[in-house]
Amino acid sequence: MEKRCVMDGAEMQMDKPGEECGVFGAYDFDGGDVAPSIYYGLLALQHRGQESCGIAVSDTTGPKGKVLCTKDMGLINEVFTPEILEKLRGDIGVGHVRYSTAGSSTRENAQPLVLNYVKGTLGLAHNGNLINAPELHRELAYTGAIFQTTIDSEVIAYHIARQRLNTKSVEEAVAQAMEKIKGAYSLIIMSPRKLIGARDPFGFRPLCIGKRDNTYFLASETCALDTIGAEHVRDVAPGEIVTISPEKGIESDTSMCIPIKHQARCVFEYIYFARPDTYIDGMSVYHSRIMAGKFLAMDSPVEADLVVGVPESGNCAALGYCLQSGIPYGQAFVKNGYVGRTFIKPGQKSRESSVQVKLNVLREAVDGKRIIMIDDSIVRGTTSDRIVHMLREAGAKEVHMRVSSPPFLWPCYFGTDVPARDQLIACNRSVEEICQIIGADSLGYLRIERLGEIVGDRPICKGCFTGKYPLEPPAEDIRGEFES
Ligand code: SF4
Repeated sequence: MEKRCVMDGAEMQMDKPGEECGVFGAYDFDGGDVAPSIYYGLLALQHRGQESCGIAVSDTTGPKGKVLCTKDMGLINEVFTPEILEKLRGDIGVGHVRYSTAGSSTRENAQPLVLNYVKGTLGLAHNGNLINAPELHRELAYTGAIFQTTIDSEVIAYHIARQRLNTKSVEEAVAQAMEKIKGAYSLIIMSPRKLIGARDPFGFRPLCIGKRDNTYFLASETCALDTIGAEHVRDVAPGEIVTISPEKGIESDTSMCIPIKHQARCVFEYIYFARPDTYIDGMSVYHSRIMAGKFLAMDSPVEADLVVGVPESGNCAALGYCLQSGIPYGQAFVKNGYVGRTFIKPGQKSRESSVQVKLNVLREAVDGKRIIMIDDSIVRGTTSDRIVHMLREAGAKEVHMRVSSPPFLWPCYFGTDVPARDQLIACNRSVEEICQIIGADSLGYLRIERLGEIVGDRPICKGCFTGKYPLEPPAEDIRGEFES
């Protein structure tokens, strides 16, 4: 397929952490084609990655190892035409949407990865980041491995393929590979006759199982199961490996699970990454965000006329603030939903701003009012000041900003691109100083003690807020390229 033209330096900076990746797999025991369901599942996961995408399928009754795969830069509906989908014939398959947190954004690094080896062909889709990828990569390279990409997912695929030479089954090979790889990973692996899902022992990233008639699915989020009319069977537990096959249905291996209290789900999945209609490990993301808004109203109250959310992820928390405080909830922004990640970014001299291209203020709604504006996070602070300014220009009398997460103080190594400390506005600054920089009348963050409460006390990772990570952070920067 032709490589698409991506405009130079065109990425829109909305001061949000990158959404990592989304994975989706399907196996139809009745032999029907799964590519259309994977397409719609990936569409529902598009918020998790908009740089590249791909689908790989295989026919379990056909020759072992004949995998058809299409992947490219761009959104799902840009890469997959009806003609391309029509050609992807197969009853087992795996798909991926990508946002690059390790390895550059190129077509070669798009997933799923398809690996031919002596035992057949593996298709693999990965969400997360390994913290020991450089060591493992070196180890493999010195023993003759030749890499086709610069992503850590290929290191996982290689390990599984190598372990498979000494194991009776592919799921055993996955378990042995999991002994070596460290970090965040939710994996979907397609072997010639089995669909396998695996989640790292900490459970950083979500992964769930669905079923529709005689077809089984694995997906990053339950919203993707809803989209294709599948029931949510259950989540894959942190550390669990599930093997799906017509002979045995769903088999589970929990030998890699760790005590529940050591699990560490990424709390930012609940605050921002996941869609609000998703449930992660039994907890509604929508409910988490409503709770965060309620806690903001309890802990950082202020008199005002209207509560508004910065779309889309600030909206639920704004509703929560309204429910708790009794201050009316309204809409202050109109979002241009047609601006993708890539567009021609206004130049220094141009009078348009990136933020304004994406968001406009409803003057009618905010003129003469005291506004509480809720957003899910402030990373660098580069858009908050712009949005506060836009509200004032539209006639807002006061602008009070509330943030439904604690201040980001540390980078993330587990599959998101929360950047280095020197790029975080909250690092070495007081809340008052940040408030001054963004030009708000007041600023309040979610208290760190509230994080546990918004996820129903499930064990979580909060490393980017506290600097205390569930795993020792890597000595080398894992977010660059392996070539360097
Ligand atoms: S460091 Fe922050 S963003 Fe990264 S996994 Fe932990 S909670 Fe999530």
